[in-house]
Amino acid sequence: MRDKTHPERTLDCLVIGGGPAGLTAAIYLARFRRDFLVIDGGESRADWIPMSHNHAGFPEGIAGIELLDRMRRQARRYGARIERGTVSRVEKTDHGFRAIVEERVLRAQTILFATGVEDREPELPDLRGAIRRGLIRHCPICDAYEAMGQRVGIIGYGACPVREALLLRAYTDDLTLLTLGRPFEFSDDDRRALAEAGVRMVEDPVDELEVDGDRIDAWRMRSGELLQFDTIYSALGRQVRSNLVRPLGVKCDADGALATDAHQRTSVDGLYAAGDVVQGLAQISVAMGQAAVAATDINNRVRAALPVLAPGEEASPAR
Ligand SMILES: Cc1cc2nc3c(=O)[nH]c(=O)nc-3n(C[C@H](O)[C@H](O)[C@H](O)COP(=O)(O)OP(=O)(O)OC[C@H]3O[C@@H](n4cnc5c(N)ncnc54)[C@H](O)[C@@H]3O)c2cc1C
Repeated sequence: MRDKTHPERTLDCLVIGGGPAGLTAAIYLARFRRDFLVIDGGESRADWIPMSHNHAGFPEGIAGIELLDRMRRQARRYGARIERGTVSRVEKTDHGFRAIVEERVLRAQTILFATGVEDREPELPDLRGAIRRGLIRHCPICDAYEAMGQRVGIIGYGACPVREALLLRAYTDDLTLLTLGRPFEFSDDDRRALAEAGVRMVEDPVDELEVDGDRIDAWRMRSGELLQFDTIYSALGRQVRSNLVRPLGVKCDADGALATDAHQRTSVDGLYAAGDVVQGLAQISVAMGQAAVAATDINNRVRAALPVLAPGEEASPAR
């Protein structure tokens, strides 16, 4: 199989993923006049954000869809090629990488891996509608401010929801931990901290969640008691989308999140990573910052390939 449009071409960079990380890289790489391509599966977490109020520069807030659209337009203005597709395989070669995208084979000196994570969601009819209306939320760092003073539930298991609960306690005193069946595993210290903070722990599982107007109803399985919330935070965890590059032997943590150095280089030469797929804080601004760092290092790495302009010669926008 060959890239039919450019049979022997080797890109400076293949960007895998077109969320805030991949699109920031696209803006930088296009303005660096690099030969690159963004392949995006179209499943950005940012697509689910009804309105972000913590992303700097948008005092009235910005919806995730709008932010992605603006970023795509900005990247394309400088000649970026952003294509819908799924990369199904990545291999290391002597001169870089070979990637399979449906019927095509792409070759690239470097890869910027920005595939993000996928949230594990509670079962709920019209989940997207519930997220859009702020009835289901995922990230207290992003939007606990908007849940101030509300009746808030947190669905989780194991020890996951403890940090979320203690963070949310600064915004509401009506806070309940719920499980859908998998038990909590709190240490004695966790239990004490939660009790001292006045967080209610409901260990009898909830067997059904239902949207009722502007609130969420939760029924306890054994007692049948109805619990009502203005917002439920899902702390059911995330699947890191790093399977594609793990066969390359890349260093990652137990959850599959990639380890990078200060230039966003992974342990595999030429493979960079940015955004939620990297260990650390899952936020738009972090994804953007990491992508800017990675794109700049990629440009420095492949810079020798760009012709130096003669005096008076005009640069073409993209090579
Ligand atoms: C409901 C919700 C609200 C949030 N609110 C905020 C907020 O207010 N502020 C904030 O900072 N953050 C917020 N976040 C987090 C924010 O959305 C993420 O931190 C951000 O989207 C991460 O960007 P990313 O580019 O790393 O990954 P993503 O945005 O998830 O993009 C990854 C892209 O890679 C693509 N991809 C994956 N695998 C492949 C493949 N094999 N081939 C091709 N493409 C592939 C996916 O389809 C996707 O388009 C929120 C998240 C959620 C779910």
